[in-house]
Amino acid sequence: MNTQDFITREEKYGAHNYHPLPVVLEKGKGIYVWDVEGKKYFDFLSAYSAVNQGHCHPKIIAAMQNQANQLTLTSRAFYASALGEYEEYICNYFGYDKVLPMNTGAEGDETALKLCRKWAYTKKGIPENQAKIIVCEENFHGRTITIISMSTDPLAKKDFGPYTPGFICIPYNDLDALEKELEDPNVAGFLVEPIQGEAGVFVPDEGYLRKAYDLCKAKNVLFIADEVQTGIARTGKLLASDHEGIRPDVLILGKALSGGAYPVSAVLADDEIMLCIKPGEHGSTFGGNPVAAKVAIAALEVVKEEKLAENADRLGKIFRKELSDIKSDMIGIVRGKGLLNAVVVTPKNGKTAWDVCVAMKENGLIAKPTHDHIIRFAPPLVITEDEQYEAIEIIKKTFKEFE
Ligand code: PLP
Repeated sequence: MNTQDFITREEKYGAHNYHPLPVVLEKGKGIYVWDVEGKKYFDFLSAYSAVNQGHCHPKIIAAMQNQANQLTLTSRAFYASALGEYEEYICNYFGYDKVLPMNTGAEGDETALKLCRKWAYTKKGIPENQAKIIVCEENFHGRTITIISMSTDPLAKKDFGPYTPGFICIPYNDLDALEKELEDPNVAGFLVEPIQGEAGVFVPDEGYLRKAYDLCKAKNVLFIADEVQTGIARTGKLLASDHEGIRPDVLILGKALSGGAYPVSAVLADDEIMLCIKPGEHGSTFGGNPVAAKVAIAALEVVKEEKLAENADRLGKIFRKELSDIKSDMIGIVRGKGLLNAVVVTPKNGKTAWDVCVAMKENGLIAKPTHDHIIRFAPPLVITEDEQYEAIEIIKKTFKEFE
């Protein structure tokens, strides 16, 4: 079978809920992936920042294999020795009293929303069914009915109603709007991405998160950070919240929590909040399973052992400088933090960000447009300076082809 055969088969039997770049991958190692024809690529998407530790990291895969040979799933009907070990490890790692383990990022967000509502009724004293959660325009928190109810993206939302009520949507990076909505005594939480990833790597003004956090504190409102994409060293610190020295009341993690090896997500909070949820009120068959537990410990160890945050911080600065220096009228703004970066592409002669991504693929680097006109660049954080320069040469060469 060649590339086209694989694509045809996926299109025939798979739902058409994605529009992938025409490349069929079958192997990955570190920062590279290989397609079915044997061609090698720099991976500059990292599965939407899930593969921060690099593809098939030996330590993570070993942890997964060892545990898979021993015990894979118990459900939460019983205790499992690996779970407590993981819970202790992740709580100490991020500095919270408790963790609630789930599988996907969307489930992490759903969990945080439920936790916030429960806290609102049992602790804050908001009258039953009146709790509101503030969210931001252009947010991306996943694909469930409740999550798309918070969305402002027509593509994510249209024809999927009726929507879940209880959300107030304000512009991102707008403290005045937040302050105004916080006047409502029924507001229980503010859910925010420290950098809006899917929106096109939109970095808010310096001080925004800190001030937003302070405003929430003044009104006894939970500050809930969705760090599913920005967390785990991606932006040059362990958490993007660390750039402004804030500690979210509720922290949502996913993606790179497993290094891309397994679906693992988590919600972290202190006892005052987390213990609002009682047995039977929330859960998941697979959440916190022994394989997930061991994989996540290994993935988090790799982040520290290999100093991935420091690497992302240093190489990110070089990346933005080099891309800003490219002379191409297709390149607009270059923005980002650490190794979560994006280029806003101005179409030329009918050629768009999609065409640039297809051309980059031909040249040996894969990335994906978001919102038609933005290309996100997010390599595994194990990339070295020399490797990144090589990749930058491919990006430069590709943009030159469109001149
Ligand atoms: N939250 C953020 C900020 C994300 O970027 C994503 C996915 O891109 C999610 C939540 C949803 O994660 P998942 O696709 O694992 O459900």
